[in-house]
Amino acid sequence: MELSIQRFTHRILPSTHHYFKPISRTRPGAFRPPVRDRSSGSAARAGWFLGMREKKDVLPEIVKAGDPVLHEPAQEVRPEEIGSKRIQKIIDEMVKVMRAAPGVGLAAPQIGIPLKIIVLEDTIEYMRYTTKEEIKAQNRQPFDLLVVINPKLKRKGNQSAFFFEGCLSVDGFRAIVERHSEVEVTGFDRFGQAIKVDASGWQARIFQHECDHLDGTLYVDKMVPRTFRTVENLDLPLAAGCPKLGAR
Ligand SMILES: [Zn+2]
Repeated sequence: MELSIQRFTHRILPSTHHYFKPISRTRPGAFRPPVRDRSSGSAARAGWFLGMREKKDVLPEIVKAGDPVLHEPAQEVRPEEIGSKRIQKIIDEMVKVMRAAPGVGLAAPQIGIPLKIIVLEDTIEYMRYTTKEEIKAQNRQPFDLLVVINPKLKRKGNQSAFFFEGCLSVDGFRAIVERHSEVEVTGFDRFGQAIKVDASGWQARIFQHECDHLDGTLYVDKMVPRTFRTVENLDLPLAAGCPKLGAR
């Protein structure tokens, strides 16, 4: 899920279907999207095939809305495969891509991997870009990196909350989405151990957003109609009839 921060820079190049296309990246500022180094693009590609480029420079590209692959359901990871090099590499790359974006959550389909894996984390640093009032209303607290494989999500209680949310696959936009205020998530961690997380507030929202990706659902598929807007217009008044932000 995309961070709720104002961003005034935009990506220059359109995204493509080459999910593992190497991207030569200049070092992104802490809260800027990665900037592609256009001058060395073809050289980077050549380096990839020749094995000349250092792997640490190559990150998968985030698949953008408009690509039908984001509406396809993901497959479960076989438990005996969790410890494999392949799955561990996918997890490592997902964490890197999420942090580089930066975002508070990422699902494997967003880097073109149709598997049920999500990563999420929220930090005090990220929260500095939101007002204290918003943080309180959203019931948002920082939490350490969570990796959940084959997550199963269950609603707890009957409270829900309406807030704007964004997605790294729908860059530059936000919309209000109704989410459960409390959920229970079960699944496996990256070591194959069964885990259970009781999440509430913003963390519960991130879990629901990321688990939706695994079902092939984007937030735009369930947003409150007429609340879709650019980040720059986030604070403008809502259209008549739209629900007020908050829990209920
Ligand atoms: Zn998303």
